Amino acid sequence: MEQTSSPFRLPILTYHHISDEIDYYTCVTPSIFREQIREITKEYGCISLEEAIQRHERNEPPTGKFALTFDDGYQDTVPMLQEIAGQGLAATVFIATDHIAKDNRWNYKAPYIAKVMAEDDIRQIAAAGHAVESHAKTHQCLTKLPDKELRLELAESRRVIEQLLGTEVKFFAYPFGLHDTRVREFAAKKYRAAFATHKTAASEDWIDLFQIHRLSVNRDTPLPAILHYLHGTNT
Ligand SMILES: [Zn+2]
Repeated sequence: MEQTSSPFRLPILTYHHISDEIDYYTCVTPSIFREQIREITKEYGCISLEEAIQRHERNEPPTGKFALTFDDGYQDTVPMLQEIAGQGLAATVFIATDHIAKDNRWNYKAPYIAKVMAEDDIRQIAAAGHAVESHAKTHQCLTKLPDKELRLELAESRRVIEQLLGTEVKFFAYPFGLHDTRVREFAAKKYRAAFATHKTAASEDWIDLFQIHRLSVNRDTPLPAILHYLHGTNT
């Protein structure tokens, strides 16, 4: 796809767990999440990735906007997704489809077991107004896979979500945020845009629609750091 020449920057936040139960760095408690969203939305309007891409194509910078994403589709995020939908916020949830209705055991480093949404949960959050997009099939590191398996990860995850919801899947989030030239080229054959994650920084413009950066908000991410990222003032 042809890129626009003027800078286009949309801050995108990524969350994993929203829970009081999980003692892990990727988990944010509901009360902290609420406080973050309350403060952020005083200054910024939430737009969907779909709207962001459309604005990018129209060369229309999304000033004063941010987007909200959730990776892995954990069941603990469902109540908060329902709550924020009630406030008019639409997020994007990226799901690794082999793990639907199962748990996070793909991540052998995680010292806890967390359920992944079942099909009914996914239908409910989609009905509430959130987008559900692909986070691959098995949540493996794609850069290590041979071409045939890489193709399957990209295509099969898309097919499963489309069949479940009857809507088109357009976006992809790289498992572990990892990608290289080959992975990006393969993703570009199946998706309109693809997203990585970064623990810090990432105030970069959208140069390449297949390596869009997002800020991963973790337990120890302070609100001022999120606001700096949104303002584009972090270093
Ligand atoms: Zn993930």
